[in-house]
Amino acid sequence: MKNRKKLYEGKAKILYKGPEANTLIQYFKDDATAFNNKKKAQIPGKGVLNNFISELIMTRLKDINIPTHFIKRINMREQLIKKLEIIPIEVVVRNIATGSLVKRLGIKDGKILSRPIIEFYLKDDKLNDPLVSEEHILVFDWASHHELEEIISLSSRINDFLTGYFFSLNIRLIDFKLEFGRFWKNDETSVILADEISPDNCRLWDLKTNKKLDKDRFRQDLGDVDKAYKEVAYRLGVLSENEFKKVIKNDL
Ligand code: ADP
Ligand code: UDP
Repeated sequence: MKNRKKLYEGKAKILYKGPEANTLIQYFKDDATAFNNKKKAQIPGKGVLNNFISELIMTRLKDINIPTHFIKRINMREQLIKKLEIIPIEVVVRNIATGSLVKRLGIKDGKILSRPIIEFYLKDDKLNDPLVSEEHILVFDWASHHELEEIISLSSRINDFLTGYFFSLNIRLIDFKLEFGRFWKNDETSVILADEISPDNCRLWDLKTNKKLDKDRFRQDLGDVDKAYKEVAYRLGVLSENEFKKVIKNDL
């Protein structure tokens, strides 16, 4: 890792140059941030858990023919991924009203939506990731009409699949954020799922108790953030408690 060229350091991950021109290495940090970087902390082991959780979810999505950037997990904190041109839109899919939707529109927290809602936010920390419409995306050329259709179709399929997948683990998928990118091949581009899918960017509630098993525990100072992420990892069957303990002991 030492001699690798760092291309970008974000709030939760670092991107390094990959072994081939069209690849990158994605490193998962333990840093947690919220409220556009105003609140910061380290959650020991979070990066390892998110690496494993995201690997599993991306692999399952590939099994149902969703194109993803994930190639393989390299080690406890790193993945080899396809290098994409990121479409500067954060796609949020919601099944249950909470978070910014509740604050913005005064909807009752926890209301089950009559159908999933797909929202778009401009990926721009300086502007606080503002909510934008499809019209904005098209007029300002953030994505083409065809790309937008593809993004909506993929997001909807991902939501249907993940809702059922988490339900089988007694977890309710409340909402989540996706990022997509363009992959160039022979002068043509296709839209591919990027970034990560983990408790950092999904809201996951225990089906029976409504206990929050995601980053809201950090945002809202609910405590036991690491325990919640571990719980998700165990339920998904990606890392046993013993394996995780061993990793963390050698890792820190
Ligand atoms: P942020 O940039 O919001 O602080 P992260 O710390 O998660 O977020 O950094 C990861 C960055 O890598 C994000 O900006 C994301 O858009 C970008 N990214 C994710 N997947 C890819 C990919 N396959 N190719 C290029 N960039 C990617
Ligand atoms: N989300 C995210 N990154 C962001 C904003 C939101 O991953 O920059 C996720 C968040 O974890 C939640 C969903 O998107 O699962 C919807 O978040 P919301 O708009 O309610 O925002 P928040 O309440 O986090 O401000």
